[in-house]
Amino acid sequence: MTATATRVLVLNSGSSSLKYQLLDMHDGARLAAGLVERIGEETSRLAHTPLATGGDTRETEGPIADHTTALKAVAAELAADGLGLDSPQLAAIGHRVVHGGLQFTEPTVIDDAVLTEIERLVPVAPLHNPANITGIRTARALRPDLPQVAVFDTAFHTTMPEYAARYAIDVATADAHRIRRYGFHGTSHAYVSRRTAALLGKDPSEVNVIVLHLGNGASASAVAGGRCVDTSMGLTPLEGLVMGTRSGDIDPAVTFHLKRVAGMSEDEVDELLNKKSGLIGLCGDNDMREIRRRIDAGGEDGARAQLAFDIYIHRLKKYLGAYTAVLGRVDAVAFTAGVGENAAPVRAAALAGLEQLGMAVDEDRNAVRSDEPRLISPEGSRVAVAVVPTDEELEIAQQTYALVSA
Ligand code: AMP
Repeated sequence: MTATATRVLVLNSGSSSLKYQLLDMHDGARLAAGLVERIGEETSRLAHTPLATGGDTRETEGPIADHTTALKAVAAELAADGLGLDSPQLAAIGHRVVHGGLQFTEPTVIDDAVLTEIERLVPVAPLHNPANITGIRTARALRPDLPQVAVFDTAFHTTMPEYAARYAIDVATADAHRIRRYGFHGTSHAYVSRRTAALLGKDPSEVNVIVLHLGNGASASAVAGGRCVDTSMGLTPLEGLVMGTRSGDIDPAVTFHLKRVAGMSEDEVDELLNKKSGLIGLCGDNDMREIRRRIDAGGEDGARAQLAFDIYIHRLKKYLGAYTAVLGRVDAVAFTAGVGENAAPVRAAALAGLEQLGMAVDEDRNAVRSDEPRLISPEGSRVAVAVVPTDEELEIAQQTYALVSA
């Protein structure tokens, strides 16, 4: 790395997508951002926004066969803006990796041994890690000399005490198959809990925060003095809150029932619980805006949307109560991600009736729309309630840069 190398490319590889951002860690500026969708299909699409120049988003459609082709297309877009991957100003590439198991508790510079370890975790993250591995391999092939760093979604949760991370099942079976609660969205929970402490003018070590990451996927975490002590997602992202398409907590016997009585296959049950449940399963919509619109329109359809909303809120309240008990003292509740940052009715409903826990929402403050972290609790509230926009790309870039510039 040269003295002038301050840029970090952040890559987030999904099974058929590649999201990226190029940031300059000298001043935190975002130079470019984009997305390749539907990789492997005839109708792949690349949307690239040259943020450094303020130019318009450039979209290209046409078949992009695989992640290697996708990253090459991204590299060409960046090069067209004078930001190519061969630039001496590029310090590193930071990769989002979903599952780091128990061994990866920190961001890690990727070498062959690290890549082998990430591959060994595929059985516990079959839906996510293979795509991340493809992204890493592709980027290493393009710039073998450049440091590449893995930032794990699970890392922030590795501080959970054993009694929170273990399921109450036979220990030998659990250990043989690495079955335990790992948690996800860790990069977001880490970033938001730290930003919440800053909003209160405190050091993270001084505050206990409940973070509610409410996007299409959703998870809650209890963070005590900057360390995660519990989180709602488990072995996979299926556990916990009601999500856009996932059921969240469910009696595991439901799965036996679906197989034995409803005659569904393993894959069908998997698909039902991960893709056809949650809000979409309950009311046919997973977008909270649409659900609120249907509630406001009323009638029978509105009642169906209302029931989905109520189930979503009821689960949130249960986690707020549980994590209050886990933490003992709660200084702040922070809402983040698509729903948490934008849906004022969700925030108001989740905290309604929780005054005994010291939690409340000020109606006027809650109605304010902003991209900035802000408080929405009434003046003098025992528990500060905050809206803190998450920024996983910035967090990945910061962790990556801290590691390679140390
Ligand atoms: P994320 O996964 O964090 O990108 O969040 C996506 C979800 O955020 C969408 O499915 C919507 O349900 C929700 N969302 C986004 N914008 C709004 C909004 N203005 N009001 C309510 N919900 C929103």
